[in-house]
Amino acid sequence: MLTFAEGGGAEAKIPALHVSAEVAEALLPGYSEQVAQLDAGEVPPAAGESRTAVLNANVVREKGTAHNVLGLVRGREHGRVLVIGAHFDHLGRGGSGSLAPAGEQGEIHNGADDNASGTATVLEIARCLAAGEPPACDVLLALWSGEELGLLGSEHWARSPTIPLERIAANLNLDMVGRAGGGKLSVLGAGSAQPFSLLLTSAGPRAKLQLDVSLSGQGVGGSDHQTFLKREIPALHFFSGLHSDYHRPSDDSERFESEGAARVAALVLDLVDDLAGTKELAFVPPPKEAPGATPGGFKTRFGSIPDYAFDGTGMRLDGTSPGGPAEKAGLLRGDVIVGVGDLKVDGLGDFMHVLNTHKPGDVVRVRFLRDGGEESCQVTLESSQVE
Ligand SMILES: [Zn+2]
Repeated sequence: MLTFAEGGGAEAKIPALHVSAEVAEALLPGYSEQVAQLDAGEVPPAAGESRTAVLNANVVREKGTAHNVLGLVRGREHGRVLVIGAHFDHLGRGGSGSLAPAGEQGEIHNGADDNASGTATVLEIARCLAAGEPPACDVLLALWSGEELGLLGSEHWARSPTIPLERIAANLNLDMVGRAGGGKLSVLGAGSAQPFSLLLTSAGPRAKLQLDVSLSGQGVGGSDHQTFLKREIPALHFFSGLHSDYHRPSDDSERFESEGAARVAALVLDLVDDLAGTKELAFVPPPKEAPGATPGGFKTRFGSIPDYAFDGTGMRLDGTSPGGPAEKAGLLRGDVIVGVGDLKVDGLGDFMHVLNTHKPGDVVRVRFLRDGGEESCQVTLESSQVE
């Protein structure tokens, strides 16, 4: 009998298990050889022997308490508020988000770049704002929890905001800014408000940073700025790039480039004054990522934004992508999808599985709950390449 280590992060209501190549070989002798043949482009001979395995799994949904840390610096004007945020959670000893190499699994992941760097930079910005003249507008400094588990902290705040969302002019999100020592920094989401690009063009050199500005709001893995973008609040994500220590125990303090982070702090402080004085800061939907960059590699596109925090039966929509199949079919934020075609959808995992069994152009009947009743609609799936 084999026992399985506990997993995490899966939304599926169906137990899913994965095994190492060694275990697969023990269960099915010849497995490794067949995989090697497939990798070499050869067609292995059909498997002769079939085996049966019995699996037992307990799905336990764990809950815990976490805290966001907020601070407000009063400005000269109180009409608009800028939210400067960074997540301060990381991966603990690893878990499903870890990329730790064999031999380092279970070690503490300090997350110096992801995201002690953003946390420290927000604290430095707070210190400067509190020490100097009052800023041009109110600034909410936010350290979010639960980002690595699916933007839980910022999402919670946005659902029960301490300041009415109508007053939030923009979000500046610092997630991984600890590798900007070479003077290079990426800024994502510049397409979410018209003045962003121009402001960044002049603010970058003032902070001695060479900015790689992307109009799209999509980044690697997503981060807390997306909580704001989906509520049509302009948002920028500052990011000094991926590296080989990402989500590994080796992401530690000796590789933190404080000189670069200080420049990021200067850049954000500069932008506070610029943004407070900019008259027109209306939200514009930013363009999607470049074709082929869709995370997860789904071939079909449904155009929905799942509610990751929903733990009922089905998949609740947190929104739909503009012009996407779900929006065209009339699906709305709050709808809970419970079936596609003849198949039941118990959760997000089921939904993705069902989506993967279809191809672009397929028309599927989607059953969903709205206002206590079940309704259905036809959705024409598109190719994810159009995104
Ligand atoms: Zn992060």
